[in-house]
Amino acid sequence: MPSEFDLIRRHFTRPARHTTLSVGDDAALLAPRAGMQLAVSTDMLVAGTHFFPDADPEALGWKTLAVNISDLAAMGAEPRWAVLALSLPKADEAWIAAFARGFFACADAFDVDLAGGDTTRGPLNLCVTIFGEVPAGAAITRGGARTGDDLWITGTPGHAALGLAHLRGEVALGADAARTCLAALHRPQPRVAFGLALRGIASAMLDVSDGLLGDLGHILECSGCGACIDVAALPLAALHACGADAALARRCLLSGGDDYELLFAAPPSQRERLAALAHQHGLPLSRIGTLTATAGELVLRETDGRVHTAAHAGYDHFA
Ligand code: ADP
Ligand code: MG
Repeated sequence: MPSEFDLIRRHFTRPARHTTLSVGDDAALLAPRAGMQLAVSTDMLVAGTHFFPDADPEALGWKTLAVNISDLAAMGAEPRWAVLALSLPKADEAWIAAFARGFFACADAFDVDLAGGDTTRGPLNLCVTIFGEVPAGAAITRGGARTGDDLWITGTPGHAALGLAHLRGEVALGADAARTCLAALHRPQPRVAFGLALRGIASAMLDVSDGLLGDLGHILECSGCGACIDVAALPLAALHACGADAALARRCLLSGGDDYELLFAAPPSQRERLAALAHQHGLPLSRIGTLTATAGELVLRETDGRVHTAAHAGYDHFA
């Protein structure tokens, strides 16, 4: 049996790129650059709650870090360091090696150093704390949206939920569609470059992890606004192209979780700049609605013009 320290040395120790003192001491030493604030976030993935216990470990390694990076992207912060707390039922080296491969693939893609962590025996549980940098005062919070701002979403949200529906047998996707949707579910691509580009443009932002409507509710609450979503402007076509019918596409887009796209508000004066940025980043970007004055009220305008109030409950672990 490998010891805890063998496992750490073999699988979680890599040359650091920008860490003063990395894995191996009692604490890591991080040196934020002058003028930068630290942005810190933690996300935990629990077997049985966030993923199937037999999930592919390499994909899980990617996703464990990617969902944390996404939280920093949503602040307009640049991810720099992560620490990884692992609880593992057993020292399965093949599983750990595959997990580490996925984790470091994501770390390399987004220039994050793994600076430390903890490894213990217990129920399968993966927890990352991520540290990033943002110029002092430049972070994009959930609380800055104003009445009259446009509401935007990046990418083609809903694919991850459609992939999950496929795994659960609720829909049978064709091979290409299944590949697209399962990639979205298992290997989410945090929108870091775009999030950084939104500094000074977006008035409020978050990453959609628990469903668009539910997460929009957080922006509305923090900003003291309401919102009207224009159903005709929702990027449903990509879901239809995967074979989802109208009702399923809508449910996946509005209520499905695990997308990690950026949902943000910006004044209408930024429309041209945003269109140019989306083009430059090769990222689909949809203007899906408007922020309104009635605090907490969320309405949908259907394609026939009918307007009605939407429930904005997202996923809640304790509900
Ligand atoms: P301590 O007993 O002082 O908490 P540990 O024995 O838990 O130290 O960890 C030894 C070193 O290995 C520390 O630098 C810690 O940050 C690092 N470490 C432990 N587990 C991991 C992991 N899964 N990934 C990265 N670094 C880890
Ligand atoms: Mg420890």
